[in-house]
Amino acid sequence: MSNSECTPKIPGFSLARQNNALREELLAAIAAVIDKGNFILGENVQALEQEIAAYCDAAHAIGVANGSDALYLSLLACGIGQGDEVITTPFTFFATAGSIERVGARPVFVDIDPDTWNIDVSLIQEKITHRTKAVIPVHLYGHSVDMDPLMEIAAKNNLKIIEDCAQALGAKYKGKKVGAIGDLGCISFFPTKNLGAFGDGGMVVTDNTELADKVRLLRVHGSKPKYYHNILGCNSRLDELQAAILRVKFPLLPEWEMRRRAVADLYSGLLAKTPVRLPLAADYTFNVFHQYTIQTGKRDELKAYLEQRGISSTVYYPLPMHLQKVFAHLGYRAGDFPIAEKACAEVLSLPMYPELTDDEAARVANAVVDFFAI
Ligand SMILES: *Cc1c(COP(=O)(O)O)cnc(C)c1O
Repeated sequence: MSNSECTPKIPGFSLARQNNALREELLAAIAAVIDKGNFILGENVQALEQEIAAYCDAAHAIGVANGSDALYLSLLACGIGQGDEVITTPFTFFATAGSIERVGARPVFVDIDPDTWNIDVSLIQEKITHRTKAVIPVHLYGHSVDMDPLMEIAAKNNLKIIEDCAQALGAKYKGKKVGAIGDLGCISFFPTKNLGAFGDGGMVVTDNTELADKVRLLRVHGSKPKYYHNILGCNSRLDELQAAILRVKFPLLPEWEMRRRAVADLYSGLLAKTPVRLPLAADYTFNVFHQYTIQTGKRDELKAYLEQRGISSTVYYPLPMHLQKVFAHLGYRAGDFPIAEKACAEVLSLPMYPELTDDEAARVANAVVDFFAI
């Protein structure tokens, strides 16, 4: 009998334990929305907006349909479109760069820092032209971008900063929550994110009242008063039912963050003796470990080995943005961003969710240790 037949499998991600623990409360919250019958922009959306704004130390939060739209509407609110350039990282989920194209602007990529996998802020200045209007830093895997030097560049060049916080709700930079450090912050409530709905959902946070009003208007087709339209928006609202579900989970988020950090500590302790690159604990960041990601030249062999042992692991992300077919017209080539390209070939995310037990985490880490001991 092989290993995988006698030991339970460890999925890369699972909501089963979380949902089972909260089942009664979630059903009650859903029933309350059905009874109330107020399905669009109701009291749960409003309450969640206030709760998330407070959590992010932001003055405003606006619920939208998903994290991708949060980015899209933020760019629109900043007046970014045709002829403009927006600087971002090539090592991210597609939506970051996709949102720039969606408003008609041009994504301009900058390579990443090999230690944090986030945009290398020291390479941004040389990419700024008279067309550059904004930078979208992505707090990848829950680890904050080095924001101080970025905000300095933004101030000097009159650029907007739109933080992609889809993986980093609750993460901090020098003690301050990410999201409202820049002009706008974009959150995703996709089911696998640190605070996940039972479907799509997203939010924009900001300290800027004018930008908040603009996003609020854009999410309802620019309609104000109702049926009168002065600007072109779209239909992108956070669902009342999703907001009710998120409000059941939200009070547990700080506890979940601490548990993710504890699992990360356990991984890092056991993996310290292996040759893999571990997530860097930069002193400026409070990492909320959306993913626990390691880097090794033997990535594919390690992934197959873990799979044999019943352990799922995932590659975020296998192809950088500048080599995506949809961006071929931008004219980038393989070799343009060597650090991002190497990361795509070498990173591997281990199972990470707050419900993972110490025993399971140890089994994962020890399997990695065994792989390198062969
Ligand atoms: C998930 C994610 C998004 C998009 O969020 P959706 O809610 O899925 O649209 C954007 N950027 C990053 C980095 C993400 O991980």
